[in-house]
Amino acid sequence: MEKKFAILGDIHANIDALESVLADAREQGATDYVCVGDIIGYNAAPRECIETIRALPCQTVRGNHDHYCAYAETLEDFHPVAANVIEWTRRQLTEDHLQWLYDLPLTATVGGAFLMVHSTLDMPERWGYVFDNLEAAAHLSYQMHVLCFHGHTHVPTVFEKELEVVRRPPESLKLQLGKKYFINTGSVGQPRDGDPRASYCLYQPKAREVTFRRVAYDVEAAQGKITAAGLPERLAVRLAQGR
Ligand code: ZN
Repeated sequence: MEKKFAILGDIHANIDALESVLADAREQGATDYVCVGDIIGYNAAPRECIETIRALPCQTVRGNHDHYCAYAETLEDFHPVAANVIEWTRRQLTEDHLQWLYDLPLTATVGGAFLMVHSTLDMPERWGYVFDNLEAAAHLSYQMHVLCFHGHTHVPTVFEKELEVVRRPPESLKLQLGKKYFINTGSVGQPRDGDPRASYCLYQPKAREVTFRRVAYDVEAAQGKITAAGLPERLAVRLAQGR
């Protein structure tokens, strides 16, 4: 069967968003699932999200929240709200969950079809954010493949390079020969581009086609879980704003 990848990212323990995205991907005929990292953090269903991803199966790279949850490192680089959620998340997970997060690689090649990284290929362990062409150019000089998917900013974006880097809106595209693409899938569990719907991508290697999807989900259910867990209220508020 012709492959159609569903590329998920920044799920951030939002099981309501994840389940709606998976239902949409199945409807769209996805054959394979991969994830550009940050399965946990911010929202209140870390166990459910890890178990759902592991059961798919779904090749995954490690995000900064996954990393700081599983590795005994200082959280001083984190915003205090995010750091509190990381500490709360550690208490929700078993040794087995934490070991699984610990073992995730920082970068991955998916069946020779494309690359994945949470932040950038030039320094994946630095967790740099790519918002502009200059930041994308630093990454693209290390990208030896036509196509790489990433996450981290929670803003769906296409960076395309022929002679120079061009930033494009997240619209469906056909990969052109002679160009390189660095594509942010947007966030499943905490979108930040002003649209509260969950974001992910589909990729069909044979047609060389990338499609962006937005999926409405039960935001109130996700907010209710945040409140019930005693996590900061602003994390619930931002879900409805897509910020
Ligand atoms: Zn994230």
